[in-house]
Amino acid sequence: MSLSRKPRVVILGGGFGGMATAQALGKKADVTVVDRHNYQTFLPLLYQVSTAGLAADHVAYPIRGALQKTGGKFRMGSPISVDHRNKTVKLDSSEVLEFDHLVVAMGSVTADFGTPGVEEFALGMKTIHEALQIRAEVMRRFEDLCRFEDDTRFAVTVVGGGPTGVEMAGALAELVRGPLMNDQAHAARHIDIRLIEAGPRILPMFSESLSAKSQKALEKLGVKVMTNTAVKEVEWRKIDLKDGSSVPSEVTIWAAGVKGNPAMEALTLPIVGGRLETEETGQVKNYPHIWAVGDVVGIKGANGRPLPMVAPVAMQTGRFVADQILRVHHKQPLRKFKYKDKGSMATIGRHKAIVEVKKIRYSGVLAWFTWLFLHLFYLMGGRNRIGTIADWFWNYFTFDRGNRHIMDSM
Ligand SMILES: Cc1cc2nc3c(=O)[nH]c(=O)nc-3n(C[C@H](O)[C@H](O)[C@H](O)COP(=O)(O)OP(=O)(O)OC[C@H]3O[C@@H](n4cnc5c(N)ncnc54)[C@H](O)[C@@H]3O)c2cc1C
Repeated sequence: MSLSRKPRVVILGGGFGGMATAQALGKKADVTVVDRHNYQTFLPLLYQVSTAGLAADHVAYPIRGALQKTGGKFRMGSPISVDHRNKTVKLDSSEVLEFDHLVVAMGSVTADFGTPGVEEFALGMKTIHEALQIRAEVMRRFEDLCRFEDDTRFAVTVVGGGPTGVEMAGALAELVRGPLMNDQAHAARHIDIRLIEAGPRILPMFSESLSAKSQKALEKLGVKVMTNTAVKEVEWRKIDLKDGSSVPSEVTIWAAGVKGNPAMEALTLPIVGGRLETEETGQVKNYPHIWAVGDVVGIKGANGRPLPMVAPVAMQTGRFVADQILRVHHKQPLRKFKYKDKGSMATIGRHKAIVEVKKIRYSGVLAWFTWLFLHLFYLMGGRNRIGTIADWFWNYFTFDRGNRHIMDSM
């Protein structure tokens, strides 16, 4: 490759990792981002779309808009094969893109761990479409309940006590206790919300004290938290548990885990444990011109386990890989990736959140404001930020949720 022309970089996936790579490369490379959607989804706020707190378009940002400043190109589509010898990638539109470097940043998908019925009867939490489906299903069951004057009860179950499941359960409880109670109190009082976690406690990545506080806060909101409870099978309107019992569940939300995106199998690259086998340089093993970014990265952290599938890993690997590509271009030595863990946070509801940064731990109103501020900071686009602030103000001062429409059908 001649040094006089910019390296051609094709980035597969325009999420947190892919866009961080594109933006860090800026005008120093000839960048093309490929994604099946023409927008980036801000996944950390998706649960607020599901629970009517936010309009869906506030968590989506057009990829073309994000690339405008740097002159990057965009192709809507999916990769179907890679020609490793000629360094080209073929898209499902039949277009063939030539590259000097290929960055795989296709994220993750819902992992059901082989649990029967999840695919058929549970709702995932990975896309805006799924978030709108959850909102529609919850609101539809509420409308069903409004027809009954007896003691018929409906249950919404969130499976998985990690941050996504906890935030989802808390927000659902607030939706039911606030806006739905105002809409039709009898129906709202007959909705049960349950959080099922297989391990001994929710939020296992946080300290025991913060995890206990969060469970208490959820229970105060009316969520039934079931720990040490493993799901055997999800069925139509019911969940069978491994202890032989079952619980009714009109709406089951599966937030129990994610795994590397199986769509990357089409790229014929080495995959171990659902992630790309990755050198500490960010290169895919035996493929020095192919790089892994974000949830698909197979680099191990200081604890010997694969890096967590979180946004900071995606953004840090994205920026790191951009720098590595430029190093290759300028014939400079490569570096090894080191993850800087900036801590974890989760919100349980109004004025309730937990933050843990190394040994610093706090909860309550201050943690809640930290959470609000950081999410706004990382949200892309002025329009999205203004829209989100407007929705949050409205929800906060009126206790209402203006987005509780059922919009997934005619
Ligand atoms: C509901 C939810 C809440 C979360 N909350 C937090 C949080 O609070 N804090 C935190 O740090 N992390 C959170 N995460 C995790 C975080 O969002 C991910 O770790 C991060 O998005 C990973 O970035 P990525 O670039 O690898 O993947 P993504 O951001 O998921 O981007 C992948 C991109 O690839 C595209 N793509 C996928 N398959 C194809 C295909 N076949 N063809 C073309 N394009 C494709 C997708 O459309 C997407 O744009 C959350 C995740 C979820 C699902």
